[in-house]
Amino acid sequence: MISEASVVIIGGGIIGTSIAFNLAKFGVKNVSVFEKSYISSGSTGRCGGGIRQQWTSPMNVRLAMRSVELFERFKSDVGMDIEYIEGGYLLLAYTDKEIEEFKRNVKMQREEGLNVELLTNRQIAKKFPFMNLEGVKGGTWCPTDGHANPQIANIAYAMAIKRMGVELNTHTSVESIDTQNGKIIGVQTSKGYVKTNVVVNAAGGFSHEIGLMAGVDIPTYSERHQILVTESVNHILDPMVISFQNNYYVRQTMHGSFVMGQSDKNPAKGNDLGHTVEFLEEMAPKMVHDFPFMKHLHIVRQWSGAYNVSPDAQPIIDEARNVSRYIFAVGFSGHGFMLAPAVGEAVAEMIVYGRSKTMNISNLGISRFENKIEKEHNVV
Ligand SMILES: Cc1cc2nc3c(=O)[nH]c(=O)nc-3n(C[C@H](O)[C@H](O)[C@H](O)COP(=O)(O)OP(=O)(O)OC[C@H]3O[C@@H](n4cnc5c(N)ncnc54)[C@H](O)[C@@H]3O)c2cc1C
Repeated sequence: MISEASVVIIGGGIIGTSIAFNLAKFGVKNVSVFEKSYISSGSTGRCGGGIRQQWTSPMNVRLAMRSVELFERFKSDVGMDIEYIEGGYLLLAYTDKEIEEFKRNVKMQREEGLNVELLTNRQIAKKFPFMNLEGVKGGTWCPTDGHANPQIANIAYAMAIKRMGVELNTHTSVESIDTQNGKIIGVQTSKGYVKTNVVVNAAGGFSHEIGLMAGVDIPTYSERHQILVTESVNHILDPMVISFQNNYYVRQTMHGSFVMGQSDKNPAKGNDLGHTVEFLEEMAPKMVHDFPFMKHLHIVRQWSGAYNVSPDAQPIIDEARNVSRYIFAVGFSGHGFMLAPAVGEAVAEMIVYGRSKTMNISNLGISRFENKIEKEHNVV
């Protein structure tokens, strides 16, 4: 382990490794990543893999659109096939109110340059004749949304950064961050001390605790979300389908399994990753109702992971006011995987140039919570 690093990144999930990848691409030497467990042990390895640009907040739309550009070239840029499929995303609407909201969202998304449209029930039935659309009034459709394998993507970044000279320390936890006169001077890890002047908090579900290590109170908390996977069957479903009303998302992986999840009514707070029978009892009937062919499908595994939630369900990407060069990229809620390529690029630019150049992400700063916040609504 090196004793002095130009940048220390805490967290080897998709966000930490994407930031390291982009720093290495910019030619930054002596970057060190610390992951307290194995690569993809956090939320990234527990994630649904959806990549969606249909958001209600323009910033999330822009970040996701930039990420899609980068996902499209991920294989050649990062060097691994991550099962990336642009199968689209179908968002279902059940009431006139929801249709009106979807119309407003589509207008804003199209203004941002996204290819997205509103579909009628009949148009959805024509595209997806195997769905039971009872009660569905319409939906929105974006063909360049899609999905990929998050574990492989995380491992792809990890292998790439090692090739590019980044030091990747797995099974090594950061225990404290030392500061002096508002500046970072080093971090204590379970395997030794590293001097550094730049620390990035990419600790996912532990972002609040890692913030406090440097005296920074980041308004994030973790919340348990459950998910399941079925046996694999012949391919039928290209897009990810979301119903906010019925509270679910579902996709079929390249290998034929269906991955699906919902938000629990009272999600457990913290990083307790247990799971419940109620989740299965709620998911199964609603999925069989909307996708009758699932009636005979076997569930093979259920698990859970943490959404690291911010007050407006948008990421917090900023440098601390009271500790210079303490940067955080946290609070991704249910959408950190899909935003990771653009976030990695933006944070690396903040470190190298002092500001993000490709995209203006200044409205993702922590000070936004001092004013009235605009919450992202399209979250399951
Ligand atoms: C059930 C579920 C479904 C989801 N579905 C989607 C989806 O479809 N699409 C999408 O985009 N997003 C989805 N998400 C959200 C997505 O998984 C996260 O937003 C994303 O993985 C966050 O990445 P991260 O790198 O910030 O966090 P993580 O992957 O959690 O990585 C943070 C890492 O920091 C490490 N760490 C913590 N403390 C320390 C320490 N002291 N020292 C060293 N290392 C430390 C942890 O071990 C962890 O590996 C889902 C999440 C869940 C739980």
